[in-house]
Amino acid sequence: AMASALKVAVVTGSNKGIGFAIVEQLCKQLGSSWAVYVTSRDEARGADALSQLKQRGVEPRFHQLDIDSQESVDRLAAYLKGTYGGLDILVNNAGIAYKGDSTAPFAEQAEVTIATNFWSTLRVCDALFPLLKPHARVVHLCSSVSDMALNKASPELQKKLTQPMSLDEVKQLMSDFVARAKAGTVQEAGWPQTAYGVSKVGVRLMTYAQARDVKGDDIVINCCCPGYVDTDMTSHKGPKTIYEGADTPVYLATLPPGIKQPIGEHLYERKVVPWAVKPDFKFV
Ligand code: NDP
Repeated sequence: AMASALKVAVVTGSNKGIGFAIVEQLCKQLGSSWAVYVTSRDEARGADALSQLKQRGVEPRFHQLDIDSQESVDRLAAYLKGTYGGLDILVNNAGIAYKGDSTAPFAEQAEVTIATNFWSTLRVCDALFPLLKPHARVVHLCSSVSDMALNKASPELQKKLTQPMSLDEVKQLMSDFVARAKAGTVQEAGWPQTAYGVSKVGVRLMTYAQARDVKGDDIVINCCCPGYVDTDMTSHKGPKTIYEGADTPVYLATLPPGIKQPIGEHLYERKVVPWAVKPDFKFV
């Protein structure tokens, strides 16, 4: 069969929270020449999100996606290739965070958090980047906690983190962090004791490396902090609504063809936040 002429957008982990709002906004902004996909690891939670979105006046499509499962990621890739011949927008939103009062051992928190937020995001990229069409836009949900982690790192580690790093070096860094978490030597390596923060350092460094390496015509990759948002992840403590949180991700997902910047950047409230040690850094 001939591939559909529709353009296609995929948002990972979009059955709730910021991803849900990103889907809604993309549907509203992109219109009828686009197929926008809610993806969820759980089919029932995905179906529930679809009916909530329908009540809100939009009708995205659905595909199952568990970013921790290679088989699930491969199935989505094959489906997109067969149905649309590629992909135009990818928002890597799915992520996890242990609660501050979790009693899970730090080694476990490090392994599990880095596995989903870093390795599984990378797994999605590895499977879907070959499908990206000209002018494709990719957005990773990162966080200002990456700035916080950088500012709390040792001077030696800060120096290393702020120099251009290849994707292989970033992978090594993340493996090393988990190994050290298991050995109880994270702080000796200059890291702050934060699994989530380091996972987002990994996402940020991944963004920088991918933006340097990516092949293709006008493919733009950025990451961003959505701000402190009222979701399950934050136990509903964040002041921003999911729609406010979706603003910068949607802005980056819909950057017009041929833009010169931002490319390979981390943004907060639509502004580039340089990757640099800031002695007066304040968490936003
Ligand atoms: P939520 O916990 O509300 O939603 C997270 C979403 O990711 C859910 O749909 C969840 O699915 C999904 N998910 C988790 N693991 C997987 C997986 N293995 N495969 C597929 N989907 C998965 O979080 P938020 O909406 O708050 O966060 C969205 C993103 O924004 C995350 O990357 C987060 O780190 C980032 N962020 C959030 C901030 C905030 O203040 N909220 C601040 C900075 C960054 P399920 O329902 O099945 O669990």
